Amino acid sequence: MIGSGMFGLLGRFPFRFGAQASADQREAAATELAEKDAALAALFETGTAGIAEVDMQSGRFVRVNQRFCEFVKRDAALLLTLRPSDITHPDDREAVVADARKAMEGVGRWEAEVRHILPNGETVWARLGSSIWKRDESGAPLRRITIVQDITESVRSKERQRQSEELLRLGQQVGRIGTFTHDIETGLVRCGADARRMFGQPPGDEPIEFEAWTAAFHPEDQPRILEAIKVTLQRGDAELACELRIIGPDGCLRHLELRVGYFYDEAGRPTRTVGAAIDVTERKQAEERLTHAARHDTLTGLPNRALFRERLNQATSRAQYGQGFAVLCLDLDRFKDVNDTFGHPQGDRLLIEVAARLREELRPDDTLARLGGDEFAVIHASSGDPEEVGRLARRLVDRLGEPFVLSGQRVLIGASVGVAVAPRDGAQGEELLSAADLALYQAKAQTMRGWRFFEPQMNVAAQSRRDLERDLRAAVEREEFELFYQPVLEVSSLRIKHFEALIRWRHPQRGLVAPDSFIPLCEQAGLILPLGAWVLRRACEEAASWPAEIGVAVNISAVQVAAGNLDFIVAAALAESGLKSERLELEITETSLLNNSESTLATLHKIKALGVRIAMDDFGAGHSSLGYLQRFPFDKVKIDRAFARDVDCSPKSAAIVKAMLDLCAALGLTTTIEGVETEAQFRALAKMGGTKVQGYLFSRPQPAHCVPALLAQFGGAPQLTVAAA
Ligand code: C2E
Ligand code: MG
Ligand code: MG
Repeated sequence: MIGSGMFGLLGRFPFRFGAQASADQREAAATELAEKDAALAALFETGTAGIAEVDMQSGRFVRVNQRFCEFVKRDAALLLTLRPSDITHPDDREAVVADARKAMEGVGRWEAEVRHILPNGETVWARLGSSIWKRDESGAPLRRITIVQDITESVRSKERQRQSEELLRLGQQVGRIGTFTHDIETGLVRCGADARRMFGQPPGDEPIEFEAWTAAFHPEDQPRILEAIKVTLQRGDAELACELRIIGPDGCLRHLELRVGYFYDEAGRPTRTVGAAIDVTERKQAEERLTHAARHDTLTGLPNRALFRERLNQATSRAQYGQGFAVLCLDLDRFKDVNDTFGHPQGDRLLIEVAARLREELRPDDTLARLGGDEFAVIHASSGDPEEVGRLARRLVDRLGEPFVLSGQRVLIGASVGVAVAPRDGAQGEELLSAADLALYQAKAQTMRGWRFFEPQMNVAAQSRRDLERDLRAAVEREEFELFYQPVLEVSSLRIKHFEALIRWRHPQRGLVAPDSFIPLCEQAGLILPLGAWVLRRACEEAASWPAEIGVAVNISAVQVAAGNLDFIVAAALAESGLKSERLELEITETSLLNNSESTLATLHKIKALGVRIAMDDFGAGHSSLGYLQRFPFDKVKIDRAFARDVDCSPKSAAIVKAMLDLCAALGLTTTIEGVETEAQFRALAKMGGTKVQGYLFSRPQPAHCVPALLAQFGGAPQLTVAAA
């Protein structure tokens, strides 16, 4: 390098003279100075470094070499008119001038790094080494020589390195990465501030003992990590990757992902490790939130079915060691009505309050879950005493029997509960849950809602229901069904006006099965839609072969009406069979209108528009029949057979039937009285003004091939004489 050698040369100049120096001494010195001057002149020519000479009086350059000119990009003539400060960066100027003056007056040597400004405005870095080489007789500095080294490139590369280190540091900070090294021989761990924080170590620069380092690991993770390190070292592996948790001094849990490289000496002894740790706490927390969401109900925050199953399995494992428990299944009684009447937001509010009330009645270690809709379930740790569980079930029912306030109205909802006790009612979780569910089913079927314990015969009933359902599915596929027809006669003429189609299932083993025992199951199992469509097609097809004035009535389930496409199915059955629409009549019960939805009414209006008549079946058997008559313009009402039964002997029954008939007449509705079994009943009814009748008195429902015979029987003159008709 240029610097030190040249300063050595300059430093050897004997510049100071004492006041009383002899003439010889002065002459010798002058000779030496001249020699040095010549040497300096030669040095200026070498061009290995930039060299400039400055006059200390004027402060201007007095001599510059070619190299210096090239460095500061100015020619010599120009430079000789300037001072060093004229080419120095303004920010460095003041310090440089002051420092240089002080040094020159003192030791006579000065070194600094400064920026020069080039004529094009660019900045270059210079390392300056200055020295006084000529003084006057009093020792005051006259000339200084400055050796100028271009350090621009090294300053820039240092700056680049600083920036990239800063970037790396920032990257590590943002990416929550900390690095560390562990000297296996000394047992000391060294790391930066970020890694110290991550590993829950106090701040500082001191190396950390390996034992203190691992002491901050989560106690559940520490043995696993130490074992993994041992195995890595034993096998001489080059890398170890693992996850661990740290409990920080603030008590917060942090999750770290570690990757550690292992280094060994020639003898295979481990020497040190270099590791990087990534703080993945936030990702872990997000994962935990997701897992929580997957196992909890978002509305109530309660465990969902998945978590309930897990807890149930845990409870059954504990039960093996004598820890008894009970499973309670709970279902609200009128939740659907709430949703229909008050809307879903109120329905949601209700569920949240139900959850809160249930929680209040349970112990903290009981599990309360929402299995879906309005179904809740409880795992209740108990001594296995059924009475205690029974009291809890009663409390739950009572608590939900208290009114709720929705949209400012007091509403009674009520709930039913089914209870299964482990291990009496089952050893496995699933078994217990289905036992509690069966008990709930029974509890709901009771007229007095409440709660029921599971009983083994419930299983038998459920099994036969399941068997029936399986058989039904097969029967729908194999079309094991048949339509029977029961005539409906006009009271005045006793002639058949139409037949009601009534389905029968010709079961391979059980023989002919009546609809009451399978239609409700078909509705639950979703089989009623294909079956109902089949009935419509078959009834239209068979009726099309009858005399043109004879119509057919088909029973339609509420499920079919709610499905929304019944008008298409009816239109298709008519089109396929060629039956005129006015010969078809549909019988629906009031349950079809229960949900009172716009789409139900729209479907019924579309069917009416086809020319098909619609009758209300089983009138008077339900709750609020009159309201339904207002809601939809029925063509006809069929009075439930319960009213025909006592009409001839009970004045009260007679009065009710009379009132119903008068009401229908006033509304312009024709009426059919169902279930007429005796002549006495018929006479009484005919007197009251019923328009049509149907019943065993005339004919039981008969297979299709009997229709012609029935028509022949009831097609002519009336065979029954009606006393006061
Ligand atoms: P429903 O529509 O009220 O049909 C009249 C029921 O009363 C028939 O029972 C019929 O056999 C019975 N019945 C008629 N006259 C008398 C009588 O004088 N005395 C007595 N005790 N009963 C009489 P069935 O055929 O067992 O049908 C029962 C119910 O099943 C029907 O009641 C109807 O609601 C339903 N159902 C029948 N066929 C179908 C169908 O194809 N689809 C749908 N969805 N339901 C049907
Ligand atoms: Mg009917
Ligand atoms: Mg009926």
